[in-house]
Amino acid sequence: MWWLVRFAYWTGLLLSLSLSACAGDEVDTDLGPKFDDKADLSECAGYDGGHLSGDDLLVLINKGEGQQLAKRWAPRDLVSVDDHLMIPGREATLRLGVLQAYEKLASKAELEMGLDLRIRSAYRSFATQCRTFAYWVDTKGLEHAQRFSAEPGRSQHQLGTTIDITSEALGYENSSGDIEATEYTWLAENAHRFGFALAYPKGEDDTTGYGFEPWHYRFIGHEAALEMHDAGLILETYLLACQNAPTDLQCPQEELAEVIPNDRFIGGMCEAQEDCRTVSSDAVCLDEEDGYPGGQCALPCEASCPDRAGANAVTFCVVHPTDEFVGLCHSRCDDERFPGSGCRDGYSCVEASRPSGSTGMVCLPR
Ligand SMILES: [Zn+2]
Repeated sequence: MWWLVRFAYWTGLLLSLSLSACAGDEVDTDLGPKFDDKADLSECAGYDGGHLSGDDLLVLINKGEGQQLAKRWAPRDLVSVDDHLMIPGREATLRLGVLQAYEKLASKAELEMGLDLRIRSAYRSFATQCRTFAYWVDTKGLEHAQRFSAEPGRSQHQLGTTIDITSEALGYENSSGDIEATEYTWLAENAHRFGFALAYPKGEDDTTGYGFEPWHYRFIGHEAALEMHDAGLILETYLLACQNAPTDLQCPQEELAEVIPNDRFIGGMCEAQEDCRTVSSDAVCLDEEDGYPGGQCALPCEASCPDRAGANAVTFCVVHPTDEFVGLCHSRCDDERFPGSGCRDGYSCVEASRPSGSTGMVCLPR
């Protein structure tokens, strides 16, 4: 927590939230406007989360004891997925290196088979999963929630490396009625070439805890996906073997591309102060108590922000609500980069003032 920053005054902002639920973990249901009036973190109070970090691309996440992500863990390199890769009307984020690998996969699918693969769902935060899970507990009871949704910390989508894939021909849905679709056959045969693994294969319910989900792919790294494929293992058994080393497997960890602050990504997510060093030595890590559930690096400012991205075009010094001499650099809204909202997922475009009095449109957390 950073003592200077309290963003409670923004909680009155219009909230808009699109939630996804998953059966298996994964049938994806847009809960829509029902959630507009309850989009806060109170639903997470009952969920402690686990202790695992998604920094390990091979971390095993499932319904088992201990195989749960930490509440505070979030990817620090999320970027927005371009519209042409998404189903219409949806926005999503993925870790940059994963998005790069997926772009190659999608263009190869088009080249080889004329397929127009689209992402239906990608990164989902711990908080999103809290709201989704709580919704199902409230409306259908705990047993139903555990069957058709994932407890917070137990969804692979929190990793920022996992995607649900569909296409126009599949009605942009993820349905078990489409398991023989060309899209899914091609993915099953080729995804490992691009570092992705099918998480819940057919007939492996007893091992994975989930039914067949031909649309749900997780990036584990190019070499690891090849090794898993060549060893004839499924994701669950491969990750388990890697976790319970020693093993004959290499379990290679791939280093993902780094995000350049203020290039495609703004600010940088953080868990601790040192995570903000790539932004600036002066940057501070704002956390959940400051109103940033995923953690967010920001630069203190008094008038303008340092020119880190050319002509100071993308940042704006926003006055602190209770101290007119203190501000924080925030991203300006950018409709080209984030069509429609002007901001990346989880942020709203609102008018804010500099300490000097001038105003600008910036992205603030919802
Ligand atoms: Zn999924």
